[in-house]
Amino acid sequence: MAALLEIAGASKSFGGVFAVADVDLAVEAGDIHCLIGPNGAGKSTLFKLVVGTYPPTAGRIVFKGTDITQAKSFARVAQGMSIKLQAPSVFKALTVRQNLHIALQDHVARHAIGTEEDRLLETLGLTSDAHRPAGLLSHGQQQWLEIGMALALRPVLLLLDEPTAGLSSDETYRTGELVKRLNAEGTTMLIVEHDMAFVRQIATGVTVLHLGRIFARGSIDEIVSDSRVAEIYLGT
Ligand code: ADP
Ligand code: MG
Repeated sequence: MAALLEIAGASKSFGGVFAVADVDLAVEAGDIHCLIGPNGAGKSTLFKLVVGTYPPTAGRIVFKGTDITQAKSFARVAQGMSIKLQAPSVFKALTVRQNLHIALQDHVARHAIGTEEDRLLETLGLTSDAHRPAGLLSHGQQQWLEIGMALALRPVLLLLDEPTAGLSSDETYRTGELVKRLNAEGTTMLIVEHDMAFVRQIATGVTVLHLGRIFARGSIDEIVSDSRVAEIYLGT
């Protein structure tokens, strides 16, 4: 069976400099695939090619068997793809519930929004914080709220760009448990991550990107025992 997401020969240049160069990557339905690599490796750019922030300079993106290389972002979202970007984007002055409401309002019938908000609050462990302004949440809670906003679309494929950045080790662990629960409920995941303990907690497979290219791929054990991978991290 074809992969849920297939990236084939994808490249993206900015003014002649290739941020992503000839990347092949397949994510199977049910995977929690982690993408790692040093700063500037091209991870966020690759995500933006997948979600359609800009088209690739070359290559193809196939989602659920359909070539979406030229599709607009909103069309990809409608097909079941959702992303939590690297830069945080919750509305800090609004409550947690209001943030979820905004994310849900275009996708859920008006009478069902309250129930859906409750379901997401429960999933995220934010029920008792529903009425707090999002800006008063801990950094971890804000990350979970953002994941919840991405979940409002009920995606089949969820992309998370550095979901544990700035989190405590306890919050990181809880984020991993959230990711695994969402995956068990049927959401395939592609996750950019730095924290190797977190990757070990969640990953079904790992791809290493370096200088825009695929550098290595394998299980977490294969990746952490690969001395070439250690070298690219030390070299930056
Ligand atoms: P990562 O997420 O792995 O840290 P990025 O994808 O953000 O890496 O960046 C990869 C390379 O592409 C970097 O050299 C970065 O400076 C460059 N880059 C990313 N976005 C742009 C852009 N919009 N314009 C020009 N260069 C960019
Ligand atoms: Mg990045």
